[in-house]
Amino acid sequence: MTKTHTIIIIGSGPAGHTAAIYAARAKLSPIMFEGEFAGGVAAGGQLTTTTDVENFPGFPQGIMGPELMMQMRDQSQHHGTTIYTKTVSAIDTTQTPFTVSGSFGEYRAHALIIATGATAKRLPITGGDTFWQKGISACAVCDGALPIFRDKPVAVIGGGDSAIEEAVYLTKFASSVYLLVRSNQFRASKVMQERALSNKKISILWQTEVTEALGTDRLTQIRVKNNHTSVTDTLDVSGLFFAIGHTPNTAFLNGQLALDSNGYIVTTMGSMRTSVPGIFACGDVQDHVYRQAITAAGTGCMAALDAERYLSEKGLI
Ligand code: FAD
Ligand code: NDP
Repeated sequence: MTKTHTIIIIGSGPAGHTAAIYAARAKLSPIMFEGEFAGGVAAGGQLTTTTDVENFPGFPQGIMGPELMMQMRDQSQHHGTTIYTKTVSAIDTTQTPFTVSGSFGEYRAHALIIATGATAKRLPITGGDTFWQKGISACAVCDGALPIFRDKPVAVIGGGDSAIEEAVYLTKFASSVYLLVRSNQFRASKVMQERALSNKKISILWQTEVTEALGTDRLTQIRVKNNHTSVTDTLDVSGLFFAIGHTPNTAFLNGQLALDSNGYIVTTMGSMRTSVPGIFACGDVQDHVYRQAITAAGTGCMAALDAERYLSEKGLI
């Protein structure tokens, strides 16, 4: 018969590892499935895809994203987390203990923490891979303050709240910001639209799509096309930011937890409880607003504390 564990954590970004550190220190002997390129991202999560992380407290000179995640992983293991480099393909919440399954077989646990993050959508433009993290990014708040973008023109793709938020944020550093909207209208809220329209550093190019990223060792130009007139142009930019939405990694839940209209897990206000008692969620998989390493870590802590309280109330620890 399959052994029942106290708690299983699925996902290995800042949320999952913070949850693991708290659960391990609470003597819950957590098991973590860190994923094997789940959602196209290496174990350790989104920060493994970036260079300098300058806004995570405790590192005054900044720290490289992969190194920060390696240190979190070491800390999880140091306190007693067992980590498997495997992707969970399904969970079964219809009976307790819950079942977690994948190519590794089946594991059971009294409580689950879902910390599978979200994947920023990327556009498959020519040169997009070559200049990824060499001028092209999917997170202006993370990368926008880097010296390479200072006092130079940059571009943001998207017409939603994220795109406008990122464009406005970038005006603090860049000399000017092109906002490239593929249709002739914003999807963003009225208040955000007004912010973009009233900002003198932002130029909105309607019905405009990027077809190619150009440069040598770094991005220096983008080729754009007006999809109404078919007129093409080349813009000098040092940065290109995708802000076309994120995909939360929730497909494997197969509808067993309540999700919002964008596919993010719904958690109860003021806690990390999901719609199923005993299952908790943290990090970007339940947060489409803040999406930062520190907020992911904070909610990871909350999820572990909520899980410990649940297990204690049920007499399972
Ligand atoms: P993630 O980091 O997304 O990690 C989730 C992990 O779970 C992934 O490894 C994934 O493979 C795994 N997983 C998914 N599905 C499964 C499954 N079914 N089974 C097992 N494992 C699974 N934030 C900052 O605060 N500062 C920055 O400088 C910064 N820079 C960034 C740069 C880039 C390029 C990007 C994309 C993001 C950046 N962010 C930054 C945002 C930050 O990375 C995220 O907010 C944070 O990583 C979210 O953490 P998380 O733990 O929720 O999930
Ligand atoms: P949205 O889905 O709202 O917007 C995505 C934008 O990207 C749309 O303008 C869309 O264009 C465009 N887009 C999508 N795919 C492509 C593509 N292939 N090429 C070019 N453009 C593309 O995502 P957001 O991340 O902006 O927002 C997600 C949620 O988070 C929303 O509910 C939003 O309100 C919320 N949010 C709120 C904030 C705030 O209140 N301050 C800040 C950030 C997010 P099209 O319209 O043509 O489909």
